Amino acid sequence: MYDHFGTKQNIHRKVLVVDDELINRLLLGNIVGRDYDVLYAENGVQAMEQIKKNAKTLSLVMLDLMMPEKDGYEVLEELKNSPELCRIPTIVLTSEKSAEVKSLSLGAADFISKPYDMPEVIMARVRRSIELAESYRMLNRTERDSLTGLYNKEFFMEYCERYNSFYPNSHMDALVVNINKFHIVNELYGRDKGNHVLQKVADVIAEFTSGENGLACRNTGDVFYLFVPHRESYDDLVSALNSSAGKIPINVRIGICEKTDSSVGIEQQFDHASLACGKHRGSQMCAYVFYDTSLREKELYNERLLREMNDAIKSKQFCVYFQPKYNIRGDKPRPTSAEALIRWIHPELGFISPGAFIPVFEENGLIHKLDRYVWNETAAQIRRMKDKYGLSVPISVNVSRVDIYDPKLEETLLETIKRHDLETSDMLLEITESEYTNNSTQIIDTVTRLRNDGFKVEMDDFGTGYSSLNMLSSLPIDVLKLDMSFMRHICENEKDLQMVKLILDIAKYLGVSTVAEGVEKEEQYHLLKDAGCDVIQGYYFSRPLPSDAFEKLFEEELSCLQ
Ligand code: C2E
Ligand code: CA
Ligand code: CA
Repeated sequence: MYDHFGTKQNIHRKVLVVDDELINRLLLGNIVGRDYDVLYAENGVQAMEQIKKNAKTLSLVMLDLMMPEKDGYEVLEELKNSPELCRIPTIVLTSEKSAEVKSLSLGAADFISKPYDMPEVIMARVRRSIELAESYRMLNRTERDSLTGLYNKEFFMEYCERYNSFYPNSHMDALVVNINKFHIVNELYGRDKGNHVLQKVADVIAEFTSGENGLACRNTGDVFYLFVPHRESYDDLVSALNSSAGKIPINVRIGICEKTDSSVGIEQQFDHASLACGKHRGSQMCAYVFYDTSLREKELYNERLLREMNDAIKSKQFCVYFQPKYNIRGDKPRPTSAEALIRWIHPELGFISPGAFIPVFEENGLIHKLDRYVWNETAAQIRRMKDKYGLSVPISVNVSRVDIYDPKLEETLLETIKRHDLETSDMLLEITESEYTNNSTQIIDTVTRLRNDGFKVEMDDFGTGYSSLNMLSSLPIDVLKLDMSFMRHICENEKDLQMVKLILDIAKYLGVSTVAEGVEKEEQYHLLKDAGCDVIQGYYFSRPLPSDAFEKLFEEELSCLQ
C-alpha cells in the first residue's frame, strides 16, 4: 500500500471498531480487517481504554453512537478535548442523518451509515480518513499568517485540495468573507485599529470554523477564505462577524460556493465564491449570497444513482444490449461479433444512458461491480448462442479504467469464462485508448497477460487519446477501433477521409484488424470498405439490441446461409 505521499507503507495501521452489537463488530472487522489490524471495543469505556493504550499507534476509530456505559458522543467529546488524542480521526457509524450534524461539531471526520452493505465504499472512506489525517499533520507544521494567527493561504489551499481529493463527494462550502469599505475603517481609526479589527474578525472566523470542523485563512488584506461543511444559513456567522469589532461598526459580505460537482476544483470553487461575494456589493439586503445552485441538483441525481446501483442490479433494472459488428470484407456484410452495452431501465427515472451513470460509477470505484455483472451476462449470452445455434459469436465487453487497476482482473475474467464453459477467444475486451497513454506500463503489463491467456484486446475510441501511430507497433493490441468522431465528416471532408485511410493502412501494415464504429450512412460504409476497414459497427447496420432481438438476427443469418 502507498500513502498519499507515495511512500511505501509496510506497517499495518490499526483501526479500532467500537460497537455494542457483536454482529456489527464482526461485519466491520471483517471488511476493514482486509487491510488493517483491527481492535475492538463494546462500549465507550472500553473504547477510551483502548484509545489511550494505543494513543501513539492508532490510525482510526470507527464509532457507534448509541452504546451503554458511555455513548459515542461522550467519546467524541473526550477525544476532541484531549490534545494528545484529537489527532486520531473518527468515523461515526450511524443510521440517522440527524446525528451527523452533532457528530461533525464534535470533530467526527466522516460517517458510515448502517447497514453496512457497501464494503468498497466503507474501505474507501476508511482509507481516506486515515490518509487525510496523516497529511493534515504533516502540513500543519507550516507557518501561519502573522497578523491573525489563521493559516496562510498556501497551506489552506493545499489542505482543501487534499481534502477534496480524498472526499470527492463531500459537500463543502467555500466562503469568501470581505469587510465592506474596510479602507474607511483604516482611514477613520488608523492602521493599528484596522489591524485590531482584522484580528477580531479572524478570531470569530477561527472559532466558527473549529466548531464546524472546517478551516480558514486570510487571503489578502480584509479577505478571508473559509472551507466548511455545507450549511443552508450563515446568519449566525454574519451577526457574530458584524459585532466582532466592538464599538467599531463593520459590515461583512460573504460569497458562498457550495460544492455540487466533484469536477470543480478548489481554485474554481473559491473563484465562484468570490464572484458571489462581489455580486451584492451595492445592496445591503443580504449579507451572504450563494453561487448558483443548479449543479446541486445534478449531484443529488448522481448520489441517487450511486445509492440505488446495488438494488438495481439485484432487481434486474440493468439490461445488457448487444450491438452487432459486421464483417465487411466479403461480398455481403455479415454480423460476426458484437459489443455488450449496458442500459439502466429505472422504474422512476426511466431509461438512463450509460453516458450518465458510467462516469459516476467510475469515479466512485463501483463500476467494477457493474462491469462484472455485464461480463457475466455477456458470457451467458455467448454460451446460449453456442448451445442454441452451434454458433460462436464473440462479444466484446468494455473494461473500464478502474478495472485495469484491479489486481484480480485477470482472475475474474478467467473465472467468468470458466463458469460458462467458454474459451478466452470467445470474449473480446475493449479498453479505451486514453488509458494506454495515462498509465502505459501498468496497462501494457495487464493487457499482455490477458492476451497470453487468449483474450483478444481492442483499443477503443482510437483517435481520442494521444497515442501516436508509431506507438501502435509497440502496444499489445489485436484490434483498433476507430472513434466515432472520425465517421462524422468522412463523406464531406477529404482530409478526414485521408486520415482514416492512413490509420487503416498503418493498422494493416502492423497486422492489427480494424473496426469503425458509429457508422450511420451507406456512403460511410462504402468509403470504409474501399479504404480496407474490416469490421463496421453502427446504426447503419443495427442499433444495440436486447438479447432476444440479437439472437433473432443470427437466426435469420443462419437461415440465409442454408
Ligand atoms: P463506447 O464503448 O464507445 O460504445 C459505443 C457507443 O456508441 C454506444 O453508446 C453505442 O450505442 C453508440 N453507437 C453505436 N453505433 C452508433 C451510431 O451509429 N451512431 C451513434 N451516434 N452512436 C452509436 P452507449 O451504449 O450509450 O454507451 C456509451 C458509452 O458508455 C460507451 O461508449 C462506453 O464507454 C460506456 N459503456 C457502455 N456500456 C458499458 C459497460 O458495460 N461497461 C463500461 N465500463 N462502460 C460501458
Ligand atoms: Ca466500447
Ligand atoms: Ca468506443
